[in-house]
Amino acid sequence: MADVTSTTERSSEQDTPLQTGTPDGNALIIHPQASPYNWLGRWRGALLTAGFAILLAPFTSLGTWLSPTEAPIDPTNYALRTKRVLETTPLIDGHNDFPWLLRVELHNRIYDGIFDPNQRLLGHTDIGRMRQGMMGGQFWSVHVKCDVAQKHFEDPSWIVRDTLEQIDVAKRFIAESPDVFTYCETPSCARAAFKSGRIASMLGIEGGHQLGGSIAAVRQAYDLGVRYITTTHNCNNAWATSASTVAKGGPDNGLSPLGAAYIREMNRLGMMIDLSHVSHQTMRDALSITQTPVIFSHSGAYSVTPHLRNVPDDVLRSVRRNGGIVMAVFVNRFLNIHDPDAVTIHDVVDHIWHLAEVAGWEHVGIGSDFSGTPFTPSGLEDVSKYPDLIELLMARGATDDQIRLLVGDNLLRVWESIQRRAREIQARGGKPIEEEFEGRKWHKGYKNSPYMYRETRERAARENWGHPDQFNVAVKAENDL
Ligand SMILES: [Zn+2]
Repeated sequence: MADVTSTTERSSEQDTPLQTGTPDGNALIIHPQASPYNWLGRWRGALLTAGFAILLAPFTSLGTWLSPTEAPIDPTNYALRTKRVLETTPLIDGHNDFPWLLRVELHNRIYDGIFDPNQRLLGHTDIGRMRQGMMGGQFWSVHVKCDVAQKHFEDPSWIVRDTLEQIDVAKRFIAESPDVFTYCETPSCARAAFKSGRIASMLGIEGGHQLGGSIAAVRQAYDLGVRYITTTHNCNNAWATSASTVAKGGPDNGLSPLGAAYIREMNRLGMMIDLSHVSHQTMRDALSITQTPVIFSHSGAYSVTPHLRNVPDDVLRSVRRNGGIVMAVFVNRFLNIHDPDAVTIHDVVDHIWHLAEVAGWEHVGIGSDFSGTPFTPSGLEDVSKYPDLIELLMARGATDDQIRLLVGDNLLRVWESIQRRAREIQARGGKPIEEEFEGRKWHKGYKNSPYMYRETRERAARENWGHPDQFNVAVKAENDL
């Protein structure tokens, strides 16, 4: 934050009228300003001080305060420019998997005195390095992997339960450091958290499989505070085809019919649709029907590195039309498919540059995937390194305004626009979506329940669901129907 402490001292000279008593008791008021000579005399010192202050202003924090974007600094002083931008615009990363580490390493037990994010941890993320990286916000991924045992969407799985546990532990982790993190569900909260010197902390679910193919579960995730859902992870789900499926030779079927309903519900809720991890056809299908901007929480540029996790140019142009945002990923194999071990911070610059050239600077962001991959570029090893990336982008020609868009302004704009659209849809009376996936099986446990409709009773009898005990239903008679 700009330090507004001024080196100029305020004049302590009186500026209130002098009052002198008169014999009849009425106050005679003498205004010192009445005499120009006196006025100059009284204010000369202050004017001199102010003059010096104006001359020195560009070199002091006062200058930043007076003119935060125009204080002249050497344009090649990238470190100072970066510091100035990140002090006034929140850098919000779109994807960090730290809560997954809490699950696998600590079984989500964070109060036993061992876990301390203020200490330097192994891996990519801890509070000290987030501060070094001048972070203003983070979308924490509440991720659970695809269930390989689940062959059909109908098969039982613990994934929805485990997702609830990840939402829970992420919230508890955030709440444990109130001086550092502020849990946010709105863009205005994120801005306010940054202004107060804290790191805005939001939740994103990384994979539609985590909702069990249920649009009702999507709604409940929203109510729990989740603000984006990655449409797929590395497996197909009830509403879409994943990039991994296509990479393994599977067909790219894009969005399913239920996927279209899912998009409608995401629009209605005001939940961000994340298209990282989906197949290219899913990207195109989603972009063709969504009524709101989309995000890619952690993806690269396909024409720089032809990995299916990356975004092809035609989709980048659609994102520009859609108003959405592609947040650049830092995972080595997405940055250089041929030689992942050779990846450096410069490869990330190349990806961001391409995304910005094709989609526009209004449609790029940063989504590292820190703590979600062991392989990060040299020079960009952890959350302390964001300023290095910004400096390199500036050295390549990015302006301060373009960097502001990249680091956070674009994401906040997209989020605000999604919220606005949702309010419009809801104001028109848009009802929650009730569609389900084809072939879904529902309970038939009518034995202890009365029917509401004759039709149900007839069908139950016809299809041998079992017979309820109520209504004195004569089984034989019913079977005759
Ligand atoms: Zn991912």
